[in-house]
Amino acid sequence: MRWMRTFIKPVTHQLPLFIIIVLVLGGDEPLYRLFRKLFLDVALPSLPFLTDITLRFGFVFLQAYLITALVNFVNRKWFKGCIYIYIIGLMLVRRFLRYNFHAEIGPLILQLVADTNASETSEFLATYAFTPASLKAYGIVAASIIIIIVCELLRKRIGRLLSSRLLAPIVALLTFVGLGSGIYMCGTFRRLFESKSVAEAFYWYDPNVVIRPTDLHSKFIYSVVISKLVAKEVVDAQKTALEFKDTPVVATCDSTLNIVVIVGESFNKFHSTLYGYPLLTSPRLAHEKEIGNLCVFSDFCSSYNTTTESLKGMFSMSTQPGNNDWFKYPTFFQVFKQAGFNVQFWDNQLNYGQFMPYNFVLSSYIYDPKMLPLMYSQRNEHSLDYDGDIVNDFIKNATCDPSKRNLTVFHLIGQHMRYDERYPHTADFEHFTADSIKRNDSYLTPSKKSTIAQYDNATRYNDWVVGQIIDYFVDRNAVLFYFSDHGEEVYDFHDYQGRDHAANPSPMTVKYQFSVPMLVWTSSTYRQLHPNETAEIQAAVDRPGSLDGFSQMLLHIAGIKDLYEPTRDILSPNYQPRPRLLPDINVNYDDALKKLPTPQQ
Ligand SMILES: [Zn+2]
Repeated sequence: MRWMRTFIKPVTHQLPLFIIIVLVLGGDEPLYRLFRKLFLDVALPSLPFLTDITLRFGFVFLQAYLITALVNFVNRKWFKGCIYIYIIGLMLVRRFLRYNFHAEIGPLILQLVADTNASETSEFLATYAFTPASLKAYGIVAASIIIIIVCELLRKRIGRLLSSRLLAPIVALLTFVGLGSGIYMCGTFRRLFESKSVAEAFYWYDPNVVIRPTDLHSKFIYSVVISKLVAKEVVDAQKTALEFKDTPVVATCDSTLNIVVIVGESFNKFHSTLYGYPLLTSPRLAHEKEIGNLCVFSDFCSSYNTTTESLKGMFSMSTQPGNNDWFKYPTFFQVFKQAGFNVQFWDNQLNYGQFMPYNFVLSSYIYDPKMLPLMYSQRNEHSLDYDGDIVNDFIKNATCDPSKRNLTVFHLIGQHMRYDERYPHTADFEHFTADSIKRNDSYLTPSKKSTIAQYDNATRYNDWVVGQIIDYFVDRNAVLFYFSDHGEEVYDFHDYQGRDHAANPSPMTVKYQFSVPMLVWTSSTYRQLHPNETAEIQAAVDRPGSLDGFSQMLLHIAGIKDLYEPTRDILSPNYQPRPRLLPDINVNYDDALKKLPTPQQ
């Protein structure tokens, strides 16, 4: 009996701590599945189901057992306090992510944290610190703390009860099963650690393929492993660039061609006049369209709803769905530089990622010292408050000789949250207010209407910024592309603002977060010199497109045959549209949009 009591002491002696560790780390999920099976579905669980539940639960059980055994061994109040602080901190992060973003701790979250600089962090906290979802998370954590305190007061009594002659053997049996399953699950990590590619690690993560631990610590380990594999892809991408650097590239376009690429940010195209929004958010571009300078593509999407993933693929010459092999191809910057273009990059999201603990992100690739001379002739040095400032900075500092070939790329902060910080608060740009939003959805409070108005002001300011760029190039032989890295939700069809990373998004979510605007503006000089290309652009506006193939449009315009695939080029008569897959969430964009209740534009 004595050895049995010692064996179960981590459970019986520290029961409140033990239970909270199990629940916070992820033991609540298998327990909930079991509960649902038994009481909601009123079905008898099958043997494979029970095995699955027991194994997943076992791994959390093992961790809780080891931690509480350590607490008993150290036997100091401060030590136990530290464990509680850690576990309650995890609980808070988990609830916060789940309620605000339907997200779990995973590689994407780690990447977003790594990709975010100090000013974005403070903006993020200002936006999300007091949302109803965050308050719900705080409430649950506060209630849990109270329950923990009460249970801690009763702890010794419960411990004596569980160690009684009657209950001790039952607790010992359960502990034995829990620990056995947990130890068995340790073995499944071997497969993860042996993964040699991102795809293999994803395979480990797929719940339909293997039974694997799904607790927070395992998710964290998985995220670190996959981050390292992604870092390896960045190294491969650098290798690709260095190997490509001596390949001659020939452009057959005329010697004065100016190609301009504007990469917007979080542009929900359904908030643009060009795509049917009732408010005048795009006056300048609507005018450009009216006078025949602008082609508006009706059906474009991004494969990702995060900046890094979207740009990594879009910059690469890869044409695979989702550009999953992006690192095997050089960027279009490099291709154009080698074709003799003066390549300029003005980035208003110039990232300070090199100071973050993770260096695998896109910024570590496009700003790697070895890559800089291969990709750009000139670039900006600092991000500025507003996108208008970055255009002025370009006009002031860039050498953009109109008699030569130039590729000018702007990366804007666009309509990234917080929207009210994206435009100067002057009479010109404070155009819309909550009263401008004539919608009656029950969830739209005055403050949410004012958020929509801010988004619309940011969109209108963006229209002005693009107008400034057009003014700069208007007298040149110039063609300009404008699109956004992904969409955004601004209380469009339900009570939600931002982007989430849930595994099973609704068709409406797909529509708003993954549809992007694609605009092609041409100067009159360009149209005179290029009647064929002009006609090709006009003929393509209603073809289904994806940012995956954007680099092919650039090759078409520049007359570059290296790496060119006409079937992937939306401007080519030989274009072959493919199913548009969204790899991160495993959804087919076309299928999702077909499920929408009303006809879409
Ligand atoms: Zn973005």
